[in-house]
Amino acid sequence: MRLYNTLTRQKEEFVPREPGKVAMYICGPTVYNHIHIGNARTFLSFDVIRRYLRWSGYEVTYVQNVTDVDDKIINRAREENRTPAEVAAEYTEAFITAMHALGIEDPDIRPKATAEIPAMIEMIECLIENGHAYAVEGDVYFAVRSFEEYGKLSGRDIEQMQSGARVDIDPRKRDPLDFALWKAAKPGEPSWDSPWSQGRPGWHIECSAMSAKYLGNPFDIHAGGDDLVFPHHENEIAQSEACSHTTFANYWLHGGMLTIDREKMSKSEGNFLLLKDVLSHIRPQALRLLMLQTHYRSPFDYSAERLQEATAALERVEGSLRNQEWAIANAIVTADELLSNDQPNKVTDQNDMARALLDHIEKKHRQFKSSMDDDFNTAGAVAAIFELVTAANSSITETVQNSLLKDAAAIARQTIIELLGVLGVALEGDEGHREELPTELVDLAAEMAGYGGDKPAEAVGELLAARQKARERKDWACADALRDGLAELGFAIEDTAAGARVVRKG
Ligand SMILES: [Zn+2]
Repeated sequence: MRLYNTLTRQKEEFVPREPGKVAMYICGPTVYNHIHIGNARTFLSFDVIRRYLRWSGYEVTYVQNVTDVDDKIINRAREENRTPAEVAAEYTEAFITAMHALGIEDPDIRPKATAEIPAMIEMIECLIENGHAYAVEGDVYFAVRSFEEYGKLSGRDIEQMQSGARVDIDPRKRDPLDFALWKAAKPGEPSWDSPWSQGRPGWHIECSAMSAKYLGNPFDIHAGGDDLVFPHHENEIAQSEACSHTTFANYWLHGGMLTIDREKMSKSEGNFLLLKDVLSHIRPQALRLLMLQTHYRSPFDYSAERLQEATAALERVEGSLRNQEWAIANAIVTADELLSNDQPNKVTDQNDMARALLDHIEKKHRQFKSSMDDDFNTAGAVAAIFELVTAANSSITETVQNSLLKDAAAIARQTIIELLGVLGVALEGDEGHREELPTELVDLAAEMAGYGGDKPAEAVGELLAARQKARERKDWACADALRDGLAELGFAIEDTAAGARVVRKG
């Protein structure tokens, strides 16, 4: 398995610190609002990576924090005349609900910043002791120039940062590049006791302290959106490595940006979508499938049309699985019957078809795995599944299936469901109860095809055979009547190169 490491700017072989186990940390939400679909994409990407690692045999520990103390939360609380804790509680719950709606699994550990203050204070003390941080009037700052490797993740040069105009000049900082580890509280702000002041932690120290506490350093994978590379992740590395003198995280994975109709998402441009609003009128699984068709590091363009296409693709897969299930459950004639009906060629043909299908399943399974092993290329993985769906579909163009073909079709169906499941795409009704054929088919066949038995599956075969005969003698009225009779019971006839078959409608 190879993955692209932002730190080294190349794909590397993945070697976990402990064989068979993966420790992963994903920067979580700041809970002051509902999350937008750009955030959702990031969390979805890493949910899929986690699922794939697990499917590949790793035991994964997945930690995602909740930033529940922050200026944005405090400002929102002030605007709404509530406490920051109330705002944070509301949007933490909203976040979890939205994650569940999109089929994103809960992390193994979801630490909240406000519950982890002691670990942060401890790390800040360590940095002061090591000469990497200093306190000024109740605030504590990290001395950026004291950490020689600062800039290694984002590839920025410290001298260029210095000349950059974005740095605010604060007379209390020794250097304009220094950033806050602890901030003294202003009146009315949430605050905690510390050696320096009643105050609260800076955002960056949260992730350094919580990942060290729950995963230890170095851990395997640190992930987040690529907007976090600088300064957040750069600062996390500086804090953690300056304190522990060991590597912080071995692999850095960053998800690409999301655009809407090829424009950058922006609140002020009115080009902004909350996940909950998108999910209110579409099937979440369609959004999931759509997002997976772009590699997680590439920019992803969202549009209503693309979402519609993904919905249609999802429905095609589901329809095809339903048809396969039906065909498998109701294979009408056994190989023996084919032989006794003097159709030995058909048995040979079907054996060939079955072997070709089994071959195809193996190939697509391999393609799925090699795509995912190549830096989690979900686009390639989804393509492999779609190709398998097409192949499985053509194998059920025959309503008559011998047992080998029937078994191959069943394996294809199971493989499609399994691989979509690895990507977290849950299908409607995939845990197949076998649909019973209605007994009305027997009555219809008795009436229109002179069928004397009592088996619905046989009745279908008789009806198709009668239709075939009617067509041969150009009795279109009779052929249409047979078709209409089946339609009334909810079945459509599909004419294919390999003969007619019956499928359930819709
Ligand atoms: Zn973080």
